[in-house]
Amino acid sequence: MEENKCPKCGSDLGEVVETAGGKKLRRCTNCTHVKWLPIEPKTLDEKCPKCGNQLALAFTRSGKKMKKCSTGGWDAKEKKATGCDYIEWINGTTEPLDNDCPKCGNKLVLYTTANGKRMIKCSTSGWDRERKQATGCDYIQWLRFDEEVDVAV
Ligand SMILES: [Zn+2]
Ligand SMILES: [Zn+2]
Ligand SMILES: [Zn+2]
Repeated sequence: MEENKCPKCGSDLGEVVETAGGKKLRRCTNCTHVKWLPIEPKTLDEKCPKCGNQLALAFTRSGKKMKKCSTGGWDAKEKKATGCDYIEWINGTTEPLDNDCPKCGNKLVLYTTANGKRMIKCSTSGWDRERKQATGCDYIQWLRFDEEVDVAV
C-alpha cells in the first residue's frame, strides 16, 4: 500500500493536520477516509532505570501520558513487546481519604503528583479543560515527603 494514497479509494491524502490533542492525521482529498498517523515518541533527557537507554514520552490511545524506554516497541506481526519494557505513568494518583474537607465538608483525597509530591485536596475540586480554570472547592494541604496519612482502602 502506498503511504500517500487513500487505502479506500486510491486518491491522494491531504496535508498532515494536528488535532488539539496532539494527534496527527491526514484526510483523503476525495472520500471521507481519515488516516491517523502514529505519534512519534518525544525522547526525554532521562535514562531508563532498567537498561540505561533514553526514555521517551508516549501517549496511549486514551491520551494518558507515560514515560517509556525508547528501546521498547511492539512487534505487530508476532504480537509481542520488543526491547525494554520499562514504563512509568505520568498521571498522578488519587486515593480517597476518610476525612472531611474543613472548607466544605466533602471527602478529602490524597493526591500524589507524578514527581512524588503529595497533597490533600477536596474531592470536589477539578479542572475545567475547556475554560482552563479550577472548579469545585479549592482546599489544598501540601504534605511533607515523610508525612504519614491514613489512606482508606
Ligand atoms: Zn479516499
Ligand atoms: Zn530500558
Ligand atoms: Zn472542600
